[in-house]
Amino acid sequence: MDLEFDRQHIWHPYTSTIDPLTCYPVVGARDVYFQLEDGRELVDGMSSWWAAIHGYNHPHLNAAAHSQIDKMSHVMFGGITHDPAINLCKRLLKMVPDNLEHVFLADSGSVSVEVSLKMALQYWHAKGEKRPKFLTVRDGYHGDTFAAMSVTDPNHSMHSLYKGFLPEHIFAESPKTGFWDDWQQSDIDDFKQKLYQHHTEVAAVILEPIVQGAGGMRLYNPEFLRQVRSLCDEFGVLLILDEIATGFGRTGKLFGCEHANIKPDIMCVGKALTSGYMTLSASITTKEVAMTVCGGEAGCFMHGPTFMANPLACSVANASLELIEKGEWQGQTKQIEQLFAELLPKLNHYDLVKDTRWLGAIGVVETTRPVNMEPIQKLFVEHGVYIRPFGKLIYMMPPFICKPEHIEKLVKAIEAALNSPECFLD
Ligand SMILES: *Cc1c(COP(=O)(O)O)cnc(C)c1O
Repeated sequence: MDLEFDRQHIWHPYTSTIDPLTCYPVVGARDVYFQLEDGRELVDGMSSWWAAIHGYNHPHLNAAAHSQIDKMSHVMFGGITHDPAINLCKRLLKMVPDNLEHVFLADSGSVSVEVSLKMALQYWHAKGEKRPKFLTVRDGYHGDTFAAMSVTDPNHSMHSLYKGFLPEHIFAESPKTGFWDDWQQSDIDDFKQKLYQHHTEVAAVILEPIVQGAGGMRLYNPEFLRQVRSLCDEFGVLLILDEIATGFGRTGKLFGCEHANIKPDIMCVGKALTSGYMTLSASITTKEVAMTVCGGEAGCFMHGPTFMANPLACSVANASLELIEKGEWQGQTKQIEQLFAELLPKLNHYDLVKDTRWLGAIGVVETTRPVNMEPIQKLFVEHGVYIRPFGKLIYMMPPFICKPEHIEKLVKAIEAALNSPECFLD
C-alpha cells in the first residue's frame, strides 16, 4: 500500500498534515477482525466508530447489498419512492417510541442533527414564535458540522476557533450522577434554572440520552433524563434526543431513552443503522411536529439531500434491523456488560487509572494522564487489537458478536498499555 502517498496527501480524521501519525493498512475485515496488509488480524474494539454492531462481512448484510445493487444503487428521492426506504421506515417506526411517526432519511449523523435542529426552528416559526436558541448540557457531542458543533461541548469542539461564525446556545452543567450511582437531586438544578430563565427563546433541548459519547464517555443517571423530559413538558420546549451513538442496542436497551422510560419529540439515529456498511441516518418526529412544520409559511420541511434515502444504504439497514429484530443483541450486550463489570474494576488499582465504567457494550477506562497516541496505538496493534483512545479516555465499543475471549483480549491490551509508561504523556 502506498502509505507514503497517504501521509503526504490524504487527510484522516482530526489529524495534522505537518506531522501525520502512523496509519495501519487494512485490506479486509471479517467477523470482529480487521485484516492488516501483513496478514495480522486485529480484534476491532471500536466497531468502526460504534457502527459495525454485527461485525464485518456479515452474510445477511452482504446479501442485502448484492441483491439491491443489481436492481439500483441509487435513484433520487424527489418525486420517487422505493421499497428499501418504505420497508426501512416501517421497521424504524416499529422500534422507536410509539409517539414518533414521521421519518426523514439523511446521509450522516451530523446531518440528521442539522435536520432535527431545523425541524425545531421551523416548528416554532410556524407557530409564530421567535425561538432562536437551543439548550443542551456540557460535555456533549453532536457532530462536526456548524449547527451540530454549536451544541457540542464548547471546550472539546473549540468554539473559540469559530467564534463569530458559530451560533451561541445555552449550556447547562452536565449530569454528575453516574448511571449506577444514587441519584442526587441537585444534579438537575443548573439545567432547571437555565430552562426557567431562557424557555421563551428556546426552540428545543438537545441531549445524548444516558451516554455522552465523544464529549467524554460519561454514563449518566436515567433520572436526569426523566426530569429533563418533564421540565420540557412543563415549559413547552421540544426535546431532541441524539441516539446516534446509543441507538440499536449499544447501551443494553434498544434506545438509550428506554432506560428512563421517556419519549423524545425528535430522535436522531445514525452510526449502527446500517451496522457500519453505508452512511445513513434518520430524524424521526411526531405527527404534531411534522404537521406544524408543514402548516407553516414554507409549506414543507426545507431540506432534501442529494443522496436522501439511498436504496443501497436502506437495503443494508433493513437487513441490519432484521438481525436486531431477532433479539440476539440482548444476550450479547448483556454478556459484554457482565464481562466489563468483572474485568474493568481489576484495573482500578493502577495509579494511572482515574475511573472505570461500563454499560451494555460500552467499557471505559479513564486515565489520569492523556494517552500518547503513536506508542499506544502501536502497542494495541502488537497485542492484536484495535482501540483508538482520545485524551484521557481509553474505551471499547466492540461489535455485539464479540465472544468472551475477544473482550478479554481487549482488556488485556489496555492493561499492557497501563504497564507501559511511554503510552502516556505527562
Ligand atoms: C458520531 C455522532 C454524531 C455525528 O455523526 P457523523 O455520522 O459522524 O456525522 C452525532 N451525535 C452523536 C451522539 C455521535 O456519536
